[in-house]
Amino acid sequence: MGLTQDDRTALHERYAVERDKRLRADGNEQYVEVSGVFSDYAQDPYIEAMPREALHDEVEFAFIGGGFAGLVTGAKLKEVGIADVRIVEKGGDFGGTWYWNRYPGAQCDTAAFIYLPLLEETGHMPSEKYTHAPEIAEHCRRIGTHFDLYDNAVFSTEVTDLEWDDDACRWIIRTNRGDEMRARHVGIGTGPLHRPKLPGIPGIESFAGHSFHTSRWDYDYTGGDSAGAPMTGLVNRRVGIIGTGATAVQCIPHLARDAGELLVFQRTPSSVDARNNHDVDPEWFATLEPGWQKRWMENFTILQTGGFADEDLVKDGWTDISQRIRDRLLAEPEPDLTPEGFVKAYHDSDDEKMEEIRRRVEEIVSDPNAADALKPWYRQLCKRPCFHDDYLSAFNEPSTTLVHTNGNGVERITERGVVVQGVEYELDCLIYASGFEVGTEFTRRWGFDVTGRDGETLSEHWAEGMMSLHGIHVHGFPNMYIVSPTQGANLISNVPHNLTESAETIAAVVAHATLLGTNEVEVRAADERAWVELLERGGRTFGGDPTCTPGYYNNEGHGIDDSARRGTLGYPDGPVAYFEHIGRWRTSGEFTGLEFR
Ligand code: NDP
Repeated sequence: MGLTQDDRTALHERYAVERDKRLRADGNEQYVEVSGVFSDYAQDPYIEAMPREALHDEVEFAFIGGGFAGLVTGAKLKEVGIADVRIVEKGGDFGGTWYWNRYPGAQCDTAAFIYLPLLEETGHMPSEKYTHAPEIAEHCRRIGTHFDLYDNAVFSTEVTDLEWDDDACRWIIRTNRGDEMRARHVGIGTGPLHRPKLPGIPGIESFAGHSFHTSRWDYDYTGGDSAGAPMTGLVNRRVGIIGTGATAVQCIPHLARDAGELLVFQRTPSSVDARNNHDVDPEWFATLEPGWQKRWMENFTILQTGGFADEDLVKDGWTDISQRIRDRLLAEPEPDLTPEGFVKAYHDSDDEKMEEIRRRVEEIVSDPNAADALKPWYRQLCKRPCFHDDYLSAFNEPSTTLVHTNGNGVERITERGVVVQGVEYELDCLIYASGFEVGTEFTRRWGFDVTGRDGETLSEHWAEGMMSLHGIHVHGFPNMYIVSPTQGANLISNVPHNLTESAETIAAVVAHATLLGTNEVEVRAADERAWVELLERGGRTFGGDPTCTPGYYNNEGHGIDDSARRGTLGYPDGPVAYFEHIGRWRTSGEFTGLEFR
């Protein structure tokens, strides 16, 4: 779209300058853990834990985590006849990320038809293309009810220890409620962005006003609710928010509407494209043929990863990004189909997309200084791309001020407020939209380690990086199944697609083990190694690009070592090929690589 080679060179130089401004020697260490004096930031503000007796019983399958991973796995297990399933969940109800994230304006940013699992099974029609958090949380509860997962579930319970009892061939699950449950099989689906983190800004502990993290929204203080009712508690308040990532983009329009004054402290602007949300027409929805959700998921994955399909069913910013790259590549008289050719097509189309996104800021934001500061100078996939129709216009509210920190972030927090470039901004309330731990020790994020056969711990087994077959099975940890996108499809644009495929796979394995009456299912060491070597040779990883602006996608700009890279690997031929592979693997009945003893 009219960009000359000189324009592109200048653009990339600007990207490098902006990145360098934000690179910090302390990388991921700049954040502080929500423990010790900060542990209140992780407390559950929504549901008080009910007293109960400690459990010393046994179940067939225990699953740690009651978000989409646990719910879908639980549902698939029930479908294959495994009735005795217990979900152990830290929150006070099912939902996982959708239990915790109730900030005003929270909604899914992948279309609900493919993002909300088990729509056909539960008979639910999403009310909007991108549904809001209360409806998603309700859908989680619907899955729990529909598949009878509530009866046996334990909530407000954190697993502290998981240990394999080799004599009994059972897992022992210990919790912070004094439980010592046993299970023949155990699943782990604790979620990739689950533990809130705080910016380690000097003086953070000294702020005397009210403060909370977005994933623990304090409606007692703000008033309003997660459905977006006016936050009457903020009418006469001066509110500050630190962070302008995907969470902040969704909640800032609500804060701008309700707060007496809102100050947005920005280090790096997000790229914010149009959302174009709309209600779902029930008549149209009724025309969808049985099996539609699987077809929609597959269609999205094909198009989002550069493949071809007759029709774009989802039609959104995600499929648009990859179709632009693909079309750009194929528009050449002699398409360069090498990896280098693909990267060039990606960069060329991205330059144009980002120009559009920067123009969009100018068109919407009336104050030219604010507009300038809100323009993102990096490639769109360097950070989570955002889509929102009311975010940028929120900066036109007279009560809203963008405090541009020129890439430096907040300098200091005092008893009274926030200091940026020597100016102190007094605040009544400070909201941390500072994200979640990524790239820290998994034991810190999960909250527990696992002791497998012969006393080997999972952190020992993974000392040089994650090892698994399909991201699910780990040698030395029989009857244990991990549910996450890693070392499988690694499809980041629609995580539930990964989880659904893993859940079906686990259900097939457990059903087979049950049929055979075996005590143990375990991946052979050689097959685990072969899988990881295949992935390493393919080199398909998520993020890690040090030329991008710093963030959790690239370990704050520091790149990742071989050990961390293992935890970001995906199937070499991409998600579509992986889903075909895993589908064949589980339906063949051979379960190649596993031993059933
Ligand atoms: P992020 O990690 O994306 O954002 C954290 C924000 O805090 C960034 O803007 C960061 O700036 C800023 N920050 C950190 N330290 C400082 C500092 N010292 N001074 C000023 N600013 C600072 O967290 P989010 O919660 O926004 O999003 C996390 C992820 O959750 C998303 O990427 C997405 O995957 C998911 N999500 C999904 C949603 C959905 O709709 N499905 C909605 C919301 C989130 P900087 O960029 O410079 O580091």
